[in-house]
Amino acid sequence: AEANPKAHVVLLPSPGIGHLTPLATLAKRLVLNHDLSATIITFSDLSSGIQQSLLSSLPNGVTSVSLPAIPLDDLPINTHIVTRLSIMISRSVPFLRETLLALQKTRRIVAYIIDHFGGETLSLASELGIPRYIFGTTNFFYLSFLLNLPSLYHDKPGNHNPNQVLFLPGCTPLHPKDYSRSCIDKNSKVFQWMLRHSKHHDQVDGIMVNSFEAMEGGTARFLKERGNGKPPIFSIGPLTCDSRSDKSQVESGLCLRWLDQQPGRSVLFIAFGSGGMLSFKQTKEMALGLEMSGQRFLWVVRKPVDADASSAYFNHRHGKNNPLGFLPEGFVERMKEKGMVVPSWAPQEEILAHGAIGGFLSHCGWNSTLESIINGVPMITWPLYSEQPMNAVMLVEGAKVALRPTVMNNDDQVVGKEAIADVVKDLMEGEGGKDVRRRMHELKEAAMKAVGANGSSNKALAQMGSRCEIRSEINGGKRQQ
Ligand code: UDP
Repeated sequence: AEANPKAHVVLLPSPGIGHLTPLATLAKRLVLNHDLSATIITFSDLSSGIQQSLLSSLPNGVTSVSLPAIPLDDLPINTHIVTRLSIMISRSVPFLRETLLALQKTRRIVAYIIDHFGGETLSLASELGIPRYIFGTTNFFYLSFLLNLPSLYHDKPGNHNPNQVLFLPGCTPLHPKDYSRSCIDKNSKVFQWMLRHSKHHDQVDGIMVNSFEAMEGGTARFLKERGNGKPPIFSIGPLTCDSRSDKSQVESGLCLRWLDQQPGRSVLFIAFGSGGMLSFKQTKEMALGLEMSGQRFLWVVRKPVDADASSAYFNHRHGKNNPLGFLPEGFVERMKEKGMVVPSWAPQEEILAHGAIGGFLSHCGWNSTLESIINGVPMITWPLYSEQPMNAVMLVEGAKVALRPTVMNNDDQVVGKEAIADVVKDLMEGEGGKDVRRRMHELKEAAMKAVGANGSSNKALAQMGSRCEIRSEINGGKRQQ
């Protein structure tokens, strides 16, 4: 421990940029605001270019180590994303052990921080005597769902009927269509994994949530007052990355320059996170709907798939070589005055912070949602998979900062161009848009306050940081000045 007496924090984000982003941001805050250093342990084979650009933007004091590639090719092709992540993480344990042991030779590790899916590695951390924490990459609503899972779906008489509305304490009522069907099927592998992850949340020294009281006060209160020796819960959000810079990439520069030429609040931004994809038919309707709306737009387009909406998560390489032949004929040419289409990936945080942006049509991934909130950009919800439908419910019915398209009950679940044009017009220049914009502005103010000097989230983060530092002193460490 003499080689580097600084107390050290280790973070294991599960695979995917949506998990890495908040954990890397937490590492950065802990290092900049406390007398700590940090190592982020990453999985090597997902969207590595984007991952690298994020990791290289981090300050000195945060290092990263990559685990060797973990093969999953024995899993059936349609294996659910949660099952994939969970198996990848449990297979990583032997490599993780080596990494942690090597770190322990030179550092005093005072905290081991995972996200919702890293629980299979907790016993290793306790074997090595390291305090354990969870930093959820979502919100209190999802945490509440996850923590309630064992009591909801265990084979006990009187339990929740999966066909009925679910009332979680302090939460917006949740219709069965808004949470993953596989999570309520007791016989599915996903449900078994979710149940394990749920229980892992009782085995840690604390849980941090990337949300804030003004957004989810009711839910947060219920969870924080659980008692019974349950781990304490800290709301430390919204933590958004704010240092990532993709400006060097040609397309990124082009989007921002194009935005510079558009009038204030006139452009709708459209993106579906790191993994989201639309079907061929839906992509076409989206294009025609945007055209019908007459509004300006900046759309991150991915080659469609007619499979699982999360399929880009593990398989997509965010390549630049992505011809736009699947868009309606002549669309790009007709739209060249009003719209810009970017293949695969765009500098989202910088785009949302740009004054020309007036709305965000989003898959409602939690990072995207927080990035929209801190920039006061009202949303149109377009959830695709995972907890995204729950986030959409919270945004539309709870916080009322988003509109959603009217979905017709057609067989193929495609939202038609008219419905798209209507909701886009309403957000950008209609009455519905005015209301959600005003409330989004209020929510932004509340978010800024929470992370400001005396704000609740900032204090909770400081408390977490001090816990780590204190822990290091208890462990007999001598703090380096
Ligand atoms: N992102 C980006 N450019 C894109 C798409 C996504 O920079 O074209 C970033 C976005 O800003 C966010 C993250 O990738 O920080 C996606 O995380 P989120 O939780 O929204 O969704 P997920 O990818 O986990 O579904």
